[in-house]
Amino acid sequence: MWGWKALSAALMAGLILFGGSALLAEGQEDPVTKSEPVVRTLEDFPSPIQGKPLRVAGEYYSEELEMTLFHSGTDYAQAEGAVIRVKHAGRVTYAGPDPFLGHKVEVDCGEDWSVIYGGLKNLRVKEGDWVEVDQAIGQIGYYPDIFGNIEQTHLHYEVWHGDLVQVDSD
Ligand SMILES: [Zn+2]
Repeated sequence: MWGWKALSAALMAGLILFGGSALLAEGQEDPVTKSEPVVRTLEDFPSPIQGKPLRVAGEYYSEELEMTLFHSGTDYAQAEGAVIRVKHAGRVTYAGPDPFLGHKVEVDCGEDWSVIYGGLKNLRVKEGDWVEVDQAIGQIGYYPDIFGNIEQTHLHYEVWHGDLVQVDSD
């Protein structure tokens, strides 16, 4: 008969919660709901370039290296020289060369979210800069993907939460 015990425990909890909120209703304001942080998801960090990706984030097999590799971002075709503007605010934590991504810009967006833009040249920001929505950070450079035979110039876009890269469910 543990089910009844669980039910009565739930009812008790409900009564306690109800009693609690009744007390709050009589008081001034609920300080807990007022200070609740906004929960952010991958959708809050859209790529500046939309459309069908050349390649998504995740594992893929490399014919050249005959092994499975992990692609940590999403690649969007874009003309060389196109100016890339961020879609969120944040602090630049890195801006410079990368062995695989040409030049890249890493932005800390707070609450453990960060975004990396690769395949760039002519960077317009430096480490420590604060970027605002629609601010230009650089231009698309010519960096063919050394692993995957992608010759098309593209933006390589990564979204991280903590030490986990976010993979689009599409
Ligand atoms: Zn890529």
